[in-house]
Amino acid sequence: MSKVKETVLEINLTHLTHNYTYLKSKLDSKVKLLAVVKAAGYGSDAITIAKHLEKIGADYFAVAYVSEGITLRKAGVKTPILVLHPQPVNFSALIEYNLEPSIYSPRIIREFIKVAEAENQKDYPVHVKFNTGLNRLGFWENDVDYIISCLHQTNAIKVKSLFSHLAASEDHNEKKFTMSQVNSFKKITSDIINKLGYTPILHQCNTSGILNYPEAHFDMVRAGIGLYGYGNDADYDTHLKPIASLKSIISQIHTLEPGETLGYNRAFVSNGYTKTATIPIGHADGIGRQYGNRKGFFTINGNKAYIIGNVCMDMVMVDITDIDCKEGDEVIIFDNISSASIIAESAGTISYELLTAISPRVKRVIIDNN
Ligand SMILES: *Cc1c(COP(=O)(O)O)cnc(C)c1O
Repeated sequence: MSKVKETVLEINLTHLTHNYTYLKSKLDSKVKLLAVVKAAGYGSDAITIAKHLEKIGADYFAVAYVSEGITLRKAGVKTPILVLHPQPVNFSALIEYNLEPSIYSPRIIREFIKVAEAENQKDYPVHVKFNTGLNRLGFWENDVDYIISCLHQTNAIKVKSLFSHLAASEDHNEKKFTMSQVNSFKKITSDIINKLGYTPILHQCNTSGILNYPEAHFDMVRAGIGLYGYGNDADYDTHLKPIASLKSIISQIHTLEPGETLGYNRAFVSNGYTKTATIPIGHADGIGRQYGNRKGFFTINGNKAYIIGNVCMDMVMVDITDIDCKEGDEVIIFDNISSASIIAESAGTISYELLTAISPRVKRVIIDNN
């Protein structure tokens, strides 16, 4: 285990390769794997992650917004990139950077065709998204004829894939609902394929769908959490390894006398003698105020050190009264052992919120054992 000298997010590419290989082993050899690298690769570092996954063979990438796709293209990523949630104001830039839009509503198909025609595009690849029960983004079943009529009036775009998103693929109690989504996707896609006259790539599964619904892999799957190993540990697949560890050090130790207070608004009042450690990570780094006042904890020399007082912008204080430690010692915010899910749950949230909030000022350190 490396010992850190400041706050760092360690990104383990060996674990990423492991997770990728494991997920691939769940797929039929013809099924493509699309790696979702939105939100800075679930809080890690989108460029590093995408370049590594490109090298080891990912077939496709997806991001949420056009700006995220542009970042990857500027870094030299060549693999096709699906933009899941583009806005018309960015359609020109999307085409300029060779990104592929999700087309999810009558308004979006009209707007995209307008821009693609204005830019003299022919057969520009688009991905048509259907809503099968998440009720978030996507065409409805009865929009198929409208889509076909739009496509018949232009040769500026061509449907590269048809897709949908599962609402509860991680929840075994929702099997019936998930299967109704799968069946509805089959029905809609067979209808539109008949009317199109060609067969685009079909995809519906996210990571937990890959693991729980092998019958719904179709031609491609979209892996997110699985690649990063950030699932809710207990029900998740224990083969997946978290790629990120957040670590810091103890900057200073104080001993408070009975009645003395700690931090802003004097939120912590010392009962007896309290030994405290000040750690250089705060709400501007992604550790929100909800972790303060004994909700969240870090790990120091194998012991739980609870956050006391309010979380500050650039630091937090933890209770080390019963912990043997000294200034400069390593502090684990989360790692393989004390997982991001457990820390997130201590403050009533989920690991993705904790991870995607880690701000760019936290240094990313790449670990690659190959
Ligand atoms: C985020 C996202 C995914 C990946 O989901 P995971 O649960 O992280 O595997 C797949 N598809 C769409 C449309 C998404 O928005």
